[in-house]
Amino acid sequence: MNSGKSDDCGDDDDDCGPDTRFQAYIMALAWAGLSIGDEGDPVPWKMYNGRGGKNYAYVRQNGGNNYGYSRSGALSKVYNHPDGHPHQVGGQHPSHHNCPHFHSTNANGEERMFNYKRGT
Ligand SMILES: [Zn+2]
Repeated sequence: MNSGKSDDCGDDDDDCGPDTRFQAYIMALAWAGLSIGDEGDPVPWKMYNGRGGKNYAYVRQNGGNNYGYSRSGALSKVYNHPDGHPHQVGGQHPSHHNCPHFHSTNANGEERMFNYKRGT
Protein backbone atom coordinates (compact mmCIF):
# COMPACT_ATOMS: atom_id res chain seq x y z
CA MET A 1 0.00 0.00 0.00
CA ASN A 2 2.80 2.45 -0.64
CA SER A 3 1.95 3.34 -4.20
CA GLY A 4 0.34 6.66 -4.85
CA LYS A 5 1.64 8.15 -1.65
CA SER A 6 2.89 11.71 -1.76
CA ASP A 7 5.91 12.59 0.34
CA ASP A 8 5.28 16.31 0.04
CA CYS A 9 4.36 16.52 3.68
CA GLY A 10 7.75 15.48 5.00
CA ASP A 11 7.88 13.48 8.21
CA ASP A 12 9.15 10.27 6.68
CA ASP A 13 9.35 8.61 10.06
CA ASP A 14 5.68 8.09 9.26
CA ASP A 15 4.46 4.76 10.66
CA CYS A 16 0.89 5.76 10.19
CA GLY A 17 -0.25 3.38 7.48
CA PRO A 18 -1.32 1.29 5.85
CA ASP A 19 -4.62 3.09 5.50
CA THR A 20 -5.08 6.16 3.36
CA ARG A 21 -7.18 9.08 4.54
CA PHE A 22 -10.15 7.85 2.53
CA GLN A 23 -9.88 4.29 3.84
CA ALA A 24 -9.66 5.54 7.42
CA TYR A 25 -12.55 7.90 6.82
CA ILE A 26 -14.81 5.07 5.61
CA MET A 27 -13.96 3.02 8.72
CA ALA A 28 -14.47 6.02 11.00
CA LEU A 29 -17.88 6.69 9.49
CA ALA A 30 -18.84 3.03 9.88
CA TRP A 31 -17.85 3.03 13.58
CA ALA A 32 -20.02 6.12 14.09
CA GLY A 33 -22.94 4.50 12.26
CA LEU A 34 -22.61 7.00 9.41
CA SER A 35 -21.78 6.52 5.74
CA ILE A 36 -20.94 8.39 2.57
CA GLY A 37 -24.08 10.29 1.61
CA ASP A 38 -25.44 9.95 5.16
CA GLU A 39 -22.72 11.67 7.17
CA GLY A 40 -24.94 13.91 9.23
CA ASP A 41 -24.19 17.61 9.62
CA PRO A 42 -20.88 19.08 8.46
CA VAL A 43 -18.64 20.58 11.15
CA PRO A 44 -16.49 23.44 9.75
CA TRP A 45 -12.70 23.59 10.01
CA LYS A 46 -12.94 26.66 12.22
CA MET A 47 -13.87 24.24 15.02
CA TYR A 48 -10.45 22.56 14.78
CA ASN A 49 -7.87 24.00 17.18
CA GLY A 50 -4.93 22.27 15.45
CA ARG A 51 -5.36 23.79 12.00
CA GLY A 52 -2.30 25.21 10.28
CA GLY A 53 0.08 22.23 10.06
CA LYS A 54 1.54 20.69 6.90
CA ASN A 55 -0.87 17.83 6.54
CA TYR A 56 -3.79 20.06 7.41
CA ALA A 57 -2.85 22.21 4.42
CA TYR A 58 -2.55 19.10 2.24
CA VAL A 59 -5.96 17.82 3.32
CA ARG A 60 -7.60 21.20 2.71
CA GLN A 61 -6.13 21.29 -0.80
CA ASN A 62 -7.14 17.71 -1.53
CA GLY A 63 -10.81 17.34 -0.86
CA GLY A 64 -11.04 17.78 2.90
CA ASN A 65 -13.96 20.17 2.95
CA ASN A 66 -14.96 19.77 6.59
CA TYR A 67 -13.43 19.16 9.98
CA GLY A 68 -15.94 16.39 10.38
CA TYR A 69 -19.55 15.44 10.78
CA SER A 70 -21.94 15.03 13.64
CA ARG A 71 -25.54 13.95 13.95
CA SER A 72 -27.82 16.26 15.85
CA GLY A 73 -29.59 14.56 18.70
CA ALA A 74 -27.06 11.71 18.72
CA LEU A 75 -23.56 11.04 20.02
CA SER A 76 -22.29 9.94 16.61
CA LYS A 77 -19.50 12.10 15.23
CA VAL A 78 -16.31 11.95 13.18
CA TYR A 79 -13.51 14.52 13.39
CA ASN A 80 -10.30 14.74 11.39
CA HIS A 81 -6.97 15.61 13.06
CA PRO A 82 -4.68 15.83 10.00
CA ASP A 83 -1.48 16.56 11.93
CA GLY A 84 -2.10 14.34 14.92
CA HIS A 85 -1.15 16.06 18.14
CA PRO A 86 2.51 17.07 17.62
CA HIS A 87 2.75 18.78 21.00
CA GLN A 88 1.70 15.61 22.81
CA VAL A 89 3.91 12.80 21.48
CA GLY A 90 6.18 10.21 23.07
CA GLY A 91 6.29 9.12 26.69
CA GLN A 92 2.88 8.61 28.16
CA HIS A 93 1.00 10.01 25.17
CA PRO A 94 -1.03 7.65 22.97
CA SER A 95 0.71 6.53 19.77
CA HIS A 96 -2.06 7.90 17.55
CA HIS A 97 -0.83 11.40 18.44
CA ASN A 98 2.08 10.81 16.03
CA CYS A 99 -0.24 10.26 13.09
CA PRO A 100 -3.03 11.91 11.19
CA HIS A 101 -6.22 10.34 12.47
CA PHE A 102 -9.96 10.48 12.71
CA HIS A 103 -11.74 10.48 16.02
CA SER A 104 -14.97 8.53 15.68
CA THR A 105 -17.67 8.27 18.33
CA ASN A 106 -20.52 5.82 17.98
CA ALA A 107 -24.12 6.12 19.17
CA ASN A 108 -23.11 4.69 22.58
CA GLY A 109 -20.44 7.35 23.07
CA GLU A 110 -17.55 4.92 22.50
CA GLU A 111 -14.60 6.56 20.75
CA ARG A 112 -12.09 4.94 18.40
CA MET A 113 -9.15 6.36 16.46
CA PHE A 114 -8.40 5.61 12.82
CA ASN A 115 -4.87 6.55 11.76
CA TYR A 116 -3.92 7.35 8.18
CA LYS A 117 -0.81 8.16 6.19
CA ARG A 118 0.28 11.74 5.67
CA GLY A 119 -0.07 12.97 2.14
CA THR A 120 -3.10 10.86 1.32
ZN1 LIG B 1 -6.90 13.68 17.83
